Amino acid sequence: MNLLESQIAFPDEIQAIKTATADWITKRVLPREVAIYTTGEVPADILQEMRDLGYFGLTIAPEYGGSGLSHLGFLAVHEELTRGPKPLWNPINVANGVAARVLQLSATEEQKQKYLPGIAAGTLQPAIAVTEPQAGSDVQGLKSRAEKTGKGWVINGSKHYITFGARADVLFVLARTAGKEAGSAGFTLFLVDKGNPGLKIARMQENMSGKPLEQTELLFDNCEVLDSAILGGVGKGLKCVFPTFAEERVTMATTALGTARRAIELAVDYAKTRKTFGSFLSEYQALQHSLADCVIELTAARSMTFELARQLDHRVVSPPEAAMVKVFCAEMANRVVDRCLQVFGGAGFMAESPICQMYRDVRVLRISGGTSEIQRNIIAKELLK
Ligand SMILES: Cc1cc2nc3c(=O)[nH]c(=O)nc-3n(C[C@H](O)[C@H](O)[C@H](O)COP(=O)(O)OP(=O)(O)OC[C@H]3O[C@@H](n4cnc5c(N)ncnc54)[C@H](O)[C@@H]3O)c2cc1C
Repeated sequence: MNLLESQIAFPDEIQAIKTATADWITKRVLPREVAIYTTGEVPADILQEMRDLGYFGLTIAPEYGGSGLSHLGFLAVHEELTRGPKPLWNPINVANGVAARVLQLSATEEQKQKYLPGIAAGTLQPAIAVTEPQAGSDVQGLKSRAEKTGKGWVINGSKHYITFGARADVLFVLARTAGKEAGSAGFTLFLVDKGNPGLKIARMQENMSGKPLEQTELLFDNCEVLDSAILGGVGKGLKCVFPTFAEERVTMATTALGTARRAIELAVDYAKTRKTFGSFLSEYQALQHSLADCVIELTAARSMTFELARQLDHRVVSPPEAAMVKVFCAEMANRVVDRCLQVFGGAGFMAESPICQMYRDVRVLRISGGTSEIQRNIIAKELLK
């Protein structure tokens, strides 16, 4: 029995694609893990395989070129993909996540036809532009405004930390379309295409992960869009995005699972080959217990995540349920990667080692997609209401 592998029973069709993905990651991606981390780039042949294997369209319906996997199926596959390096799975995550879900839940048929096939094929990059310098956790504090004009709307404002903002073919932009008195109905979601003269890339934002540079500060300077760029209707912006945020949090939990698993695999391999004082590291009880704790936590987190993942296909999952899974798994992965890095000693601190990069990458799971504090607020509000 491999203690790191999921023992969860999935329907046959999900198990088949999960196993195929695990094999692909093991045989095609992990042998090039160091190179991908070092350059921050996915080799062209691997990118093409990602497209050919349909990973960009896992959650997209077959009529738009995707494979139409259930939530459970997507999350089972996503856990396997996230054993690989972040530059590989991050674009898959963005494509299948908020972008694909918002389009499928709220877009007109014309909008679906325009964007979904490209996203599913992995040739059209979406980006979600919500966060602003003045408004992160407090989404409703955002200041970007869209004003009605004769032929459409004009957007002004700025966004930052936008993943793939610079290379996005389409941006999903949340902006104010009414004053504070409108409450949650004061926001509208717009689709802004690449090349719009009013969309400016202010700067790339370097972060703790290093390469590749993905986060972008964007400026909307009299950015004109037509009425047909609105998603879900005027004033429906929060209604469009909030349900997908809860789903995204469960997806981030599976990212934490894949990351933690890969970290343990690396630490176990190292402990079996590195000798100190004439013995392998794996013979020292201090490290054995540390690794045992890692696998206990991973297994608990996986059970919790997939218990909820099963519900996603049958009912609307509430924000506190998604928050519990996100916060637990994100913090689990941070503890696990930290312990695994310790097994490597100085080698774990060197930038050339994958565990070093994983340590940098895993930190953001406690911040993006809603911080751990905000998740606890959501849980406590429900508990104490
Ligand atoms: C790598 C990365 C990628 C991202 N990608 C995107 C993207 O593609 N699109 C996008 O729109 N955004 C993106 N974000 C933004 C991300 O969603 C926000 O950073 C996150 O929601 C937190 O907002 P903030 O950074 O403004 O922190 P703030 O909201 O300023 O919070 C600062 C601190 O205060 C705490 N805090 C705030 N309010 C409360 C409260 N009420 N109670 C207790 N504690 C509180 C927070 O938990 C945090 O610790 C990304 C961020 C990162 C780091």
